[in-house]
Amino acid sequence: MRKLAFGYSTRCNIRCEHCVATGDIPDSRTMDHGKAKKIIDQLALAGVGGISFSAGEPMLYFNEIVELVELCRQVNIYTRIVTNSFWAKTAESADRLVAELKEKGLCQLRLSFSRWHQKHVSQHNVLNAARSCQKIGLDYFISFVTDFSEEDDPYEQFLRDQGLTFFPEPVIYAGRAESFKRRSILTDYQPNCCDMNPYLTPDLEMYGCCDAGSHFPATNFFYLGNLNDHTMAELFTKSETDRLHNLIRTMGLTNIASFTGMKGRDIITYSKCELCRKLFNSPATLARLRAEVAELAAWSR
Ligand code: SF4
Ligand code: SF4
Repeated sequence: MRKLAFGYSTRCNIRCEHCVATGDIPDSRTMDHGKAKKIIDQLALAGVGGISFSAGEPMLYFNEIVELVELCRQVNIYTRIVTNSFWAKTAESADRLVAELKEKGLCQLRLSFSRWHQKHVSQHNVLNAARSCQKIGLDYFISFVTDFSEEDDPYEQFLRDQGLTFFPEPVIYAGRAESFKRRSILTDYQPNCCDMNPYLTPDLEMYGCCDAGSHFPATNFFYLGNLNDHTMAELFTKSETDRLHNLIRTMGLTNIASFTGMKGRDIITYSKCELCRKLFNSPATLARLRAEVAELAAWSR
């Protein structure tokens, strides 16, 4: 099933130090609402079955997003909103908004949580939002962004103490987090395959990946094109027929890294997106992988 991260606006009301959506330049582009409504129809025609409203803070455009969610319901597209929970200051305000989202057809709320987010938004907002979802029957989960350091322990403990559904997500060292010192992690030698859901920006630029993928400035590896010049189906097909994109999906980044000559003990210090960035934001490595893609595809144990 095709899925898309829908960047209605890059505007956000807080400024997290780790934000991957924006760099240092104030960035608040917003999609034309009429255009956004037409895009929902195009998505349905292109066979897209799920949309995640992300980018900046979608709930700043509550009425507009609710309208888009309703349109998605009419064309059977699953919807998720990713939010920092600024709007859930009280249990009452959270209940009111969650009830409206549920009524208009939203399928899931994803609540962002981290030691960086919580410098700006009280953790009780996240708790209120989660409790409202539980009460009203809207699916939710908490995305716990972490660099796996001990500093994050109290935050994880808070989520556990409250019995909330959460999943740790590694911080991505891109955007504002570009300047963070990368923490080496030691993982198992796992394949690191990635589904790669495309991301649509407010300017209708489309990228093959929804996370750090739009921030590979040295190569623009994931850039697919602009919706003003192509149909939605054409842009999806572009990624689906790119041999390297497909090898990220099927072979995984660990094998690709090993093919380039990276040592196993070096590979296991990288999280998935970091490894992806190391390989595909390097013009020299990318040129080599493009030239040797047939050998890479045949490179198996
Ligand atoms: S991480 Fe999310 S909540 Fe934080 S500044 Fe970026 S878009 Fe806003
Ligand atoms: S692994 Fe690569 S393609 Fe997948 S989400 Fe991370 S940056 Fe994007």
